Amino acid sequence: MQRIAESWPLRFAGDPVRRYVLRLGQKIVAQVDPHHVDDWRFFVVRNLEPTAFAVGGNRFVVSDGLIAFVRNESDLVAVLAHEIAHQRLRHFCDQAPTDAKRIRYGSIVQHFDLDTERAADAEAVRLLELAGYDSCSMYEVLRCLSERPGAPVSQLQARMRSLKSSCTNRANMPHIGELEEIRSHILDESGTPIQRCR
Ligand SMILES: [Zn+2]
Repeated sequence: MQRIAESWPLRFAGDPVRRYVLRLGQKIVAQVDPHHVDDWRFFVVRNLEPTAFAVGGNRFVVSDGLIAFVRNESDLVAVLAHEIAHQRLRHFCDQAPTDAKRIRYGSIVQHFDLDTERAADAEAVRLLELAGYDSCSMYEVLRCLSERPGAPVSQLQARMRSLKSSCTNRANMPHIGELEEIRSHILDESGTPIQRCR
């Protein structure tokens, strides 16, 4: 995390975008670790590519691009819940499988393993429901990512197949609420139109 903080343009603590992400993250943390909510840290990097990852040690990073890309708040919470699930399921304590695909994110390297991703997706659905969000959101975020140019489609679709039964009545959420304000803020600052998922 220190390496990321030194070399990446992170939003600082009082920033409205970071405060918003922190509030959403804490709604999920309240379901899994209610007595230590403040030990969990959420960071936002000024990067227009939609990305999110867990660094380990209850530290998470999401990008401006992810916030601008998702359909609604529930979808953003799904991404946070997925990353929190990696932490809860101790995916950082086990040795990464040797055949896991290495994914390079700037100065850090993460491992990709389909079974691990599926386990985090399933746990994210449970956490979404507990926190009162749309349980379809995990599936929908994967669908959104799979429709981007250059996406690892077969990998994402394999994860979507495992989630199919978790999404029975798909809700169409109107574009209202705080996510829309935060999204406008990011767009104003970046001066770039950012395509969002539909
Ligand atoms: Zn993951």
